[in-house]
Parts: sequence; structure tokens; C-alpha cells
Amino acid sequence: MEPGERATDDPSCLFCKIFRREIGAQEVVRSEDALVFRDLNPQAPTHLLAIPRRHAADLGDFVAAATKSEMAELLRVAAQAGRAASGDGYRVVTNEGRDAGQTVAHVHLHVLAGRRLAWPPG
Ligand code: AMP
Ligand code: ZN
Repeated sequence: MEPGERATDDPSCLFCKIFRREIGAQEVVRSEDALVFRDLNPQAPTHLLAIPRRHAADLGDFVAAATKSEMAELLRVAAQAGRAASGDGYRVVTNEGRDAGQTVAHVHLHVLAGRRLAWPPG
């Protein structure tokens, strides 16, 4: 897909289904191009996932196809949710590929807050 082409949904993708509200999620922030919802298996008192409407398997595929506006919107909602959730800071992280432990093939930013987060991670 060329940059700027209209986003496509993947009919079988879990997070596309969450974006289309075909599968339930606890939504925190929604805009036309991005969504933040609660992770089912939280790793911190606040653990959110920020996803773009545009289906892309991972961050690399997303930035290769997305418009600047779509990229900015994903970061904007992640930061908005992180600031709103955090007492004193938050972390945004994404996993791409097997070495990083990616399990869902629709790009997502983890937003973690509510406890001291170790560094370096994992
Ligand atoms: P990753 O392992 O980086 O690909 O992250 C995938 C995340 O999606 C994990 O933290 C899962 O707990 C989370 N997850 C999987 N299915 C759902 C779901 N239906 N609703 C919310 N979070 C989910
Ligand atoms: Zn998808």
C-alpha cells in the first residue's frame, strides 16, 4: 500500500475486530484513527494498548504504509492515556517479532504506569 492510501481492515485480525467493536474491550481513548484500551493481562496497575485503525502487522510495517497524521495520532493517544493514568510517569513500548515477544500481529504500543518500572526491561 502506498503512503496515504486509505487504511484497510484485516477481517480476521483480533485488534481490527476490537477497533470495529466486534470484540469487546475496555476503551480508554478513541479517535477516528486510533484507540487505547485495557490489556487483558495487565503487567502493571495500568496497562493499556494503543493501536491504529490501519492494520499493520508491526511497527515497521506501520511506518512504511501510514500517513504522518496516522503515526502522530497513535503517539498522541498513547501519551494522552499515559499522562492521564500515571501518578508520576509512564512507559511506552512496542514489541516487534519473536525476539521481542510479539504475540498479536497488529501494531500496538503498550502504555504502562502505576508502579516503578525496572530498566532495562526484560
Ligand atoms: P505483545 O505480546 O506485545 O504482542 O502484546 C499483546 C498484548 O495483547 C498482550 O499484553 C495481551 O495480554 C494483550 N491481549 C491479547 N488479547 C487481548 C484482548 N482481547 N483484549 C485486550 N488485550 C489483549
Ligand atoms: Zn489488524
